[in-house]
Amino acid sequence: MTGSTPLSELKGVGPQLFTKLQVLGLKNVSDLVSYLPRKYDDYSKFMPIKELKPGVVTIHANIGPASGKYVRRGLHITEAIATDDTGSIRIVWFNQPYRAASLKKGILYYISGTFELSHQRFAIMNPTIELASEFPINTARIVPIYGETKGITSKQIRGLVAQTLPYISQLSETMPSWAIKKYDLCSYSDALQYLHFPKNNQTLLTARRRLGFEEVFRLVLASLLNKQENDSETSLKIAFSKELAQKFVEHLPFKLTDGQRKVAWEIFLNLEQIHPMNRLVEGDVGSGKTVIATMAALMALNQGYQTALMAPTELLARQHADTIVKLLKPLGLEGAVTLLVGGLSLNQKKIARNAIRNGQAMFLVGTQAVIQEAVDFHKLALVIIDEQHRFGVEQRKSLMAKAGHMPHVLSLTATPIPRSLALTLYGELDISVLSDKPAGRQPIITKLVSPNSRAQMYSSIKEQLNSGRQMFVVCPLISDSDTMSANSAERVYEQMRIKDFSQYKIGLLHGKLKAHEKNAVMESFVYHKIDILVSTTVIEVGVDVPNATVMIVEDAERFGLAQIHQLRGRVGRSSHQGFCYLLTSNSIAPSKRLRALESCQDGFKLAEIDLDMRGPGAIYGSLQHGQLDLRIAKLSDTKLISEARSAAQEFISRGENLLQYKHLATTIHKLRAVTNLN
Ligand code: ADP
Ligand code: MG
Repeated sequence: MTGSTPLSELKGVGPQLFTKLQVLGLKNVSDLVSYLPRKYDDYSKFMPIKELKPGVVTIHANIGPASGKYVRRGLHITEAIATDDTGSIRIVWFNQPYRAASLKKGILYYISGTFELSHQRFAIMNPTIELASEFPINTARIVPIYGETKGITSKQIRGLVAQTLPYISQLSETMPSWAIKKYDLCSYSDALQYLHFPKNNQTLLTARRRLGFEEVFRLVLASLLNKQENDSETSLKIAFSKELAQKFVEHLPFKLTDGQRKVAWEIFLNLEQIHPMNRLVEGDVGSGKTVIATMAALMALNQGYQTALMAPTELLARQHADTIVKLLKPLGLEGAVTLLVGGLSLNQKKIARNAIRNGQAMFLVGTQAVIQEAVDFHKLALVIIDEQHRFGVEQRKSLMAKAGHMPHVLSLTATPIPRSLALTLYGELDISVLSDKPAGRQPIITKLVSPNSRAQMYSSIKEQLNSGRQMFVVCPLISDSDTMSANSAERVYEQMRIKDFSQYKIGLLHGKLKAHEKNAVMESFVYHKIDILVSTTVIEVGVDVPNATVMIVEDAERFGLAQIHQLRGRVGRSSHQGFCYLLTSNSIAPSKRLRALESCQDGFKLAEIDLDMRGPGAIYGSLQHGQLDLRIAKLSDTKLISEARSAAQEFISRGENLLQYKHLATTIHKLRAVTNLN
């Protein structure tokens, strides 16, 4: 047996089971052994029958004669008596008509199940039993429960993993031996064995620590290697012009915050270097990142170099282009701004591309897709990425190929990435945090609303609408779904239109609309041709409609805190008070988690709460980050993380050759392609 042995070669795997396994992504032995249990049932504690207490129990007993009968159609009951030195107890199975015949008399079994009251008598219900003479897989030990099984039972998976134990025991080490020693890790092979078949809680912890350590180690190492590579690239130096910066700032309709000044300065210092900048600016919604980005681009312009700003949606790209034109106008530089998005006519696109090629277009604003598709730059020195979650090594390399050198990269995000996470996952990025907000911003009044208070909420919202304000309604789904009972945008839209808000103009926006349809809807909202915009989270990033002051989030439980915080930032963009109503699906026990949004306006704090309660995935909403795929390590385990980080740093400082670690090398290669995002 090797890692690539197909699972169809294991005992008991017929074509049907093999197909099901493949649905789970399990094709070969190596897939199977790295399929992680999600939790465990502890059947390891034996109890004499006399001392049984209600709950999960394991006994070591003989089973007397068993009898089975149908008590009514569709309900078969098997009953037997289990006996040990201390007493006897009834055991009961439902709908297992074959059970009685399979039991052998006079033989010791391990019997694990739930001891509970059934028809006024105590019994062990639906137990799993195994011969005590054999290696126990499903009883008498801590047994793994596999999270998603799609029609396969955990018991079946356990049986298969048990067959691979000889293979697991021969697996070679994946981590450097000095790290194993220094951080007192168990071997890879032991770790996998303990993970599936822990001897006790201690070995389970040992296994999890070891595998979690390796996970973080790999992430950090991938990130450090990316940084090393980045630092060895050259890029175009962009000098800082104090006069120009002052002139720009003088013409702004507001005063820069201290945070904005500091971050701008950090960027200017990077741009003057010969090595490419790779900086992430994190700042809450509305903290004023666009101005900073424009200042960076201004320096590039001044030097005769091009800048490309990439936005995730066409809508945002258009808004950015408008904003930037306004910002550059007082300096007479607005002509440098060129928009390139999918919605332009072929001819317009052609003109834009030509201008970019010959250097007339110096500040290109567009969507990432369009810019990367087919653009030849004249002298590209700076790339600004707004709210993109994927701009990795590959993308940078493809730009480098076009530009002839590595551009400086500035990423902007309103996603508050907690420090612990940032250091681990984005070690290759320099991070600036915009911690202050422009003066005069009021907190957004946020309220949890239970389903039976909907009508009341609607009437107070109507006061807002009647005084000329607009509203966003955010839904978790586009259409009704068979598998999820959530309010879809289409349904909410119909209901509001026909029933509750029939006197208002309502628009519907979601990702399935064509680009020009989206633009049309959004434009009518921007120009107040509609009062209410029902949408999915496509409005999440960037959209600026200061007159919109109310937001409803339907099925708020389905969203991460940081995500809702980003969403509600849309209604805090003017001097009018903003309101955010979070509709919960449960009227009795509104989520404690969501309560945090009522009292807290700090995106970073909310992200920390999400991180603690739901894991890193929650911070990013539905976006799946490859690099956030920590399956074992917990980000709250700061000791493990800092140790794994030190180990990765030592790996580099020792001058280790990654290629000597085959397993590490392949996994890290994959990671390097997805880290280095914003
Ligand atoms: P975000 O960080 O969410 O991208 P924007 O750059 O869109 O934020 O800025 C939000 C709004 O705040 C814009 O209308 C912008 O003009 C304004 N703004 C930016 N900086 C300041 C400041 N220092 N004082 C007042 N308003 C500011
Ligand atoms: Mg923005």
